[in-house]
Amino acid sequence: MDERASAPRDDSDPNALPLPEARRRILAALDTVDEVETLSLLEAHERIARARITAPGAVPPFRASAMDGYAYRHAEGGERLRIAGESMAGHPGPDALAPGTCQRITTGARVPDEADTVVQQEDVQRDGAAIVIDEAPPMGANVRAAGSAGIEGEVLVEPGDRMGSATLAVLASHGIDRVTVTRRLRIGLLSTGDELCEPGESVGRGQIHDANRVLLATLLRGPLVEPVDLGIVADTPEALVERLATASRLDVLISSGGVSVGDADHVREVLADGGTVSLWKIAMKPGRPFAFGRLRDGPVWFGLPGNPVSAAITSLMLVMPALTVMAGGVPDEPSLARAAVLDEPLAKRPGRVEFQRGRCHTDAQGTLHVSGVGAQDSHVLRSLQRANCLIELPASSPGAATGETVTVLRFEDLGTSPF
Ligand code: AMP
Ligand code: MG
Repeated sequence: MDERASAPRDDSDPNALPLPEARRRILAALDTVDEVETLSLLEAHERIARARITAPGAVPPFRASAMDGYAYRHAEGGERLRIAGESMAGHPGPDALAPGTCQRITTGARVPDEADTVVQQEDVQRDGAAIVIDEAPPMGANVRAAGSAGIEGEVLVEPGDRMGSATLAVLASHGIDRVTVTRRLRIGLLSTGDELCEPGESVGRGQIHDANRVLLATLLRGPLVEPVDLGIVADTPEALVERLATASRLDVLISSGGVSVGDADHVREVLADGGTVSLWKIAMKPGRPFAFGRLRDGPVWFGLPGNPVSAAITSLMLVMPALTVMAGGVPDEPSLARAAVLDEPLAKRPGRVEFQRGRCHTDAQGTLHVSGVGAQDSHVLRSLQRANCLIELPASSPGAATGETVTVLRFEDLGTSPF
């Protein structure tokens, strides 16, 4: 138990896959869900586009003023110019401009065809119904060309693009109000274990409350995903098979527990009988027992470990990128790792990559520091609650000493702060 005190013992398993290889295999085995839906821009926020969208026209569609001032011919900038009309935003003036005249203009208003420059109002002397330019701007100044923010035929969105706020606003600026995106993935969540009961129920002898369904439902719920609760399932293959019969219209099934090789562990066997198990041991801690496969004519199945912290971290590392791929998107590369100075020693055995829960902060000099958050056992959810990052210790590491530089994955760098 006290790993710090003992000499490092090797913790590797020749049958376990390194995490990057597991991730690569999982992502390669997935298909994008076929069905799409066409949504309003607001509904499409954070969804994945499935069709290319090209600009139907130019933005802005006309030459527009970038300033409040006067539109005129640059060649006449030395003369006293009579104010002949005005062009306001949304209320364009005439396109013709008689020699020796200018037009009062506001930001965003159409520049008359016969003007080539706008002088800002601060740079002119107003003299009744005429102006004299104090400081002449360069030819063409303060005139936004038609199409300067986007030209007709330009590709605005490619299939696979995420519909972030800026993308949605670009579409809106081109007058587009609907987008075709992947429909939400239906994700069934179930917990296996005879020892489990629902929060709100009192625990019987030897029982614990199910923490994983709420953890996973909220962690994975998002614009791409619609979670479907499949409850708690007893530790028999029959109970599992029976519950799966209710899960036919799912894209993904996520179970927790029952995935090791103990007497009560049936996930792997049920998956092998009803479909294919593609891999089931990953050289990471927490999370070594992990099943991935597909039921015949059914959903992809992620069999997560039962311990809540293991279920959470394998979800972050493997399930979340998989869901992005199934929705037609490109998952973020796990490249947001940062270097941090370790403020306390961390115990670890060599053999598999380990993700320890940590808290990092930046000191007054701008250096990132990190320390552990107490018990690293994978049933201790409280330390996940306190953590704001994972400390990634490579497989070969025998532990790390105070002052060493280690790699951290900040939760906020993983998109949202998931916990
Ligand atoms: P298992 O993977 O089924 O062997 O479970 C490993 C450990 O995780 C055991 O201590 C289980 O009691 C615990 N566990 C399994 N499922 C849950 C759950 N849904 N919520 C909390 N703890 C769980
Ligand atoms: Mg179990």
